[in-house]
Amino acid sequence: MDILWILWTIPAVIAVEETLMDSTTATAELGWTVYPVSGSSDNSWEEVSGYDENMNTIRTYQVCNVFDNNQNNWVRTKYIRRRGAQRIHVEMKFSVRDCSSIPNVPGSCKETFNLYYYESDSDTATRTSPAWMENPWIKVDTIAADESFSQVDLGGRVMKINTEVRSFGPVSRNGFYLAFQDYGGCMSLIAVRVFYRKCPRIITNGALFQETLSGAESTSLVAARGVCIPNAEEVDVPIKLYCNGDGEWMVPIGRCMCKSGNEPVENGTVCRACASGFFKPTQGDEPCLQCPINSRTTSEGAINCVCRNGYYRTDSDPLQMPCTTVPSAPQNVISIVNETSVMLEWMPPRDSGGREDVVFNIICKSCGGGRGGCTRCGDNVQFLPRQLGLTEPRVYISDLLAHTQYTFEVQAVNGVSDQSPYSPQYASVNITTNQAAPSTVSIMHQVSRTVDSITLSWSQPDQPNGVILDYELQYYEKDQSEYNSSTVRSPTNTVVIRGLKPGSIYVFQVRARTVAGFGRYSGKLYFQTMTEEEYNTSIQEKLPLIIGSAAAGLVFLIAVVVIIIVCNRARVLCLSSRRRGFERADSEYTDKLQHYTSGHMTPGMKIYIDPFTYEDPNEAVREFAKEIDISCVKIEQVIGAGEFGEVCSGNLKLPGKREMFVAIKTLKSGYTEKQRRDFLSEASIMGQFDHPNVIHLEGVVTKSSPVMIITEFMENGSLDSFLRQNDGQFTVIQLVGMLRGIASGMKYLADMNYVHRDLAARNILVNSNLVCKVSDFGLSRFLEDDTSDPTYTSALGGKIPIRWTAPEAIQYRKFTSASDVWSYGIVMWEVMSYGERPYWDMTNQDVINAIEQDYRLPPPMDCPSALHQLMLDCWQKDRNNRPKFSQIVNNLDKMIRSPNLLKAMTPLSSGVHLPLLDRSIPDFSSFSTVDEWLDAIKMGQYKDNFASANFNTFDVVSQMTMEDILRVGVTLAGHQKKILNSVQMMRAQMNQIQSVEV
Ligand code: AMP
Repeated sequence: MDILWILWTIPAVIAVEETLMDSTTATAELGWTVYPVSGSSDNSWEEVSGYDENMNTIRTYQVCNVFDNNQNNWVRTKYIRRRGAQRIHVEMKFSVRDCSSIPNVPGSCKETFNLYYYESDSDTATRTSPAWMENPWIKVDTIAADESFSQVDLGGRVMKINTEVRSFGPVSRNGFYLAFQDYGGCMSLIAVRVFYRKCPRIITNGALFQETLSGAESTSLVAARGVCIPNAEEVDVPIKLYCNGDGEWMVPIGRCMCKSGNEPVENGTVCRACASGFFKPTQGDEPCLQCPINSRTTSEGAINCVCRNGYYRTDSDPLQMPCTTVPSAPQNVISIVNETSVMLEWMPPRDSGGREDVVFNIICKSCGGGRGGCTRCGDNVQFLPRQLGLTEPRVYISDLLAHTQYTFEVQAVNGVSDQSPYSPQYASVNITTNQAAPSTVSIMHQVSRTVDSITLSWSQPDQPNGVILDYELQYYEKDQSEYNSSTVRSPTNTVVIRGLKPGSIYVFQVRARTVAGFGRYSGKLYFQTMTEEEYNTSIQEKLPLIIGSAAAGLVFLIAVVVIIIVCNRARVLCLSSRRRGFERADSEYTDKLQHYTSGHMTPGMKIYIDPFTYEDPNEAVREFAKEIDISCVKIEQVIGAGEFGEVCSGNLKLPGKREMFVAIKTLKSGYTEKQRRDFLSEASIMGQFDHPNVIHLEGVVTKSSPVMIITEFMENGSLDSFLRQNDGQFTVIQLVGMLRGIASGMKYLADMNYVHRDLAARNILVNSNLVCKVSDFGLSRFLEDDTSDPTYTSALGGKIPIRWTAPEAIQYRKFTSASDVWSYGIVMWEVMSYGERPYWDMTNQDVINAIEQDYRLPPPMDCPSALHQLMLDCWQKDRNNRPKFSQIVNNLDKMIRSPNLLKAMTPLSSGVHLPLLDRSIPDFSSFSTVDEWLDAIKMGQYKDNFASANFNTFDVVSQMTMEDILRVGVTLAGHQKKILNSVQMMRAQMNQIQSVEV
């Protein structure tokens, strides 16, 4: 406890003593009251002049009645004012004669005296009052000499002087008297000083404490609150000190410390702002630090140093660390090409920018194509260990195309690269891949079969990696061992395997061969030869057709019945018999539409065949489209303009069939052979489909001019204009019914492995029963040389309808059924908004940017939440997370069955829906000035920049471009992006408001 006490005492702080009375300063007689009165028989205290040790004249009181018994001599000071003190200290200087040195002295001789005090509010004492006795007087102590003297010096000057201090309290009256009682000694009271103590004004522990009177008892503590010195602040608890009875400060509690940007000087009594070029990031006693390299202060009292231009700090960099910059380019990239892979190695950049977190990114560009340009590689290229954030200076890249030129850029980036407005520095290397074996054949289908043969066909490998010399087909009976397999070679992707057993299942695998050798075998597929019974049935099937069309009527009906029966038993065969008639049932192409994928192996599932995989696309037309004699067609009127010529309505009257209303697309005269091929490719595609929600091809006219494609007629034309003309006219269920039809058509197409690439309301046709059908299978609009239609933006390798297209298809042409699902979501939005233009009049680039930053179209007015949710699902960034068309159909069916699901609406703010679902960027219209808006987007630091560049109204701000943002002085990439986004949002909000006002 004592140790603690000592530690808690503030060192080197001397208590202040405030004197209330000092006998040595008296210039005249002290005039204290003596009892008994001097001059009486006894000699009491007597005032005598003398000198102190410095030979100053002083007034003393002496008494020496050692030979008389029963002495009781008092001397009383004058009234002493208390002046607020609670505890009084009395310092007495006196000398005492040693009794034993006095010859013949009686035993009553004393060497001590008593000290008393008496409190009084005023100076009312008289010669008799207070009575000269203890009580009313209060005894303080009996005072004894430490040293006495044996002989009185002749001059009375050289004396042994004792000094004793006594204290008493608490005192509470206005003042008091002291009294000294002698009871038979020989002594001299040389000096009496009365004082009290107080703790002085001090600055300690960062705070100022005012002078404080000590407490009443020697042990009492008086608490005092300190006030932090300027630029200091309290740490944790309020700062306090205690003043003890001896006027000493002790027990410090809490403390004040210099604020950040200030350092303690002058023994901690002053907090001084850090000088220019120095900083202090935190509160505390430590001194300011010099700015680290590449940084500076902008004013005194800095709490950090800002980086110089071109230098940056990450959020996790300590402020003491030098500011750093972006790394220089990697050096000496070398490449080792091995067939279709390449190993890249490089040396680290010469300048790491002052950081140790340099990593490398690889940008892969394929420069094949012979058009001079390069495109970003698709996501099928593999990078080991990874493409971005490589910590080691090497990467292994595989799955490149053979015989293709690539450019690889090796970027060096570090922790501050994303703060630099410039793109990372890189070193690039060009390579050309070598030959490689072809990739695996992924799709094989059965073309036809008999009791002892199966005709198979397959698609080319995705990456042939050269000219395919031939294919090798391996097969064996399912129940036999693979070692007994046979192989056949085929120069084309079709082969007839003969000599098989009837009704037996065989396992087939195929692989392609180029000069680089064989590719890997495809997955195993199982096909079965016909049984004798099946064969006989199929012969019966053919009978009515052999008899010919002359024997129509009843015979035909019987044939139909037979076909239905066969269909039930051999559904696979039936699927394609429908279109082409039966006369070519055994031909190589008869059942071309029966495909089996090694992926899903769903028996009987038809797979779409790209007409351009035919060596002669006219062959595909012949295969998939029925030739119609021009005499059967009667054109009535022009109803629209197609890609290649007019679109007309008219009548088609086929022999033996009822006349029907049709649409006729014509190919304008003067076409090139390529245009003819492209025009007819649509028919080759359409002719492969048969679904109530896919436009139905009746046939083509190719043998006379003009060349025509004849389809079923859709009375209400294209869906987008139909909806615009009938704005608000349909119930939600009707709209959902239309969407259901489109989804069902798309499910059918997706099941056939057909990717539409241009699903949009303009490409859906509507008939008089509001049935929607997917149409427009033309490929020509994707070709690069046509710049007439702004919907289709040129991209390397073709044109893309940006607003309808999934990001991965825009970025690297990854068109899949999942990207069709994205487009379907946009069609949903078009339908629910009655033909509104997706993303209104935002530019294509704004749309791309917005989508990249995860903004999505909001629900159209009155759109049920369930539908908008389905749209958002279709717009998942990761295409694997988007629903399949089958799920969309099921979902819509559920809504149609339970219309309650369509009741909940997404609330719209203030009747004006925001163009994009963005809750992080505030609506500019809720602010009245550009400054307020800048504050709201947390970019308030650029207010002056905006103002001085005259960007001071929303009208001008909404037109700002990236260059403008740079020009006003926004240099941080993150801030530029934030402002640009907010400006784009403002622009879209303005457009929205204008369109609502109109
Ligand atoms: P397209 O070849 O799809 O660009 O056709 C141009 C326009 O012709 C379409 O927008 C429709 O208005 C119209 N059209 C095309 N096919 C049909 C059809 N089967 N029935 C009715 N109108 C059609």
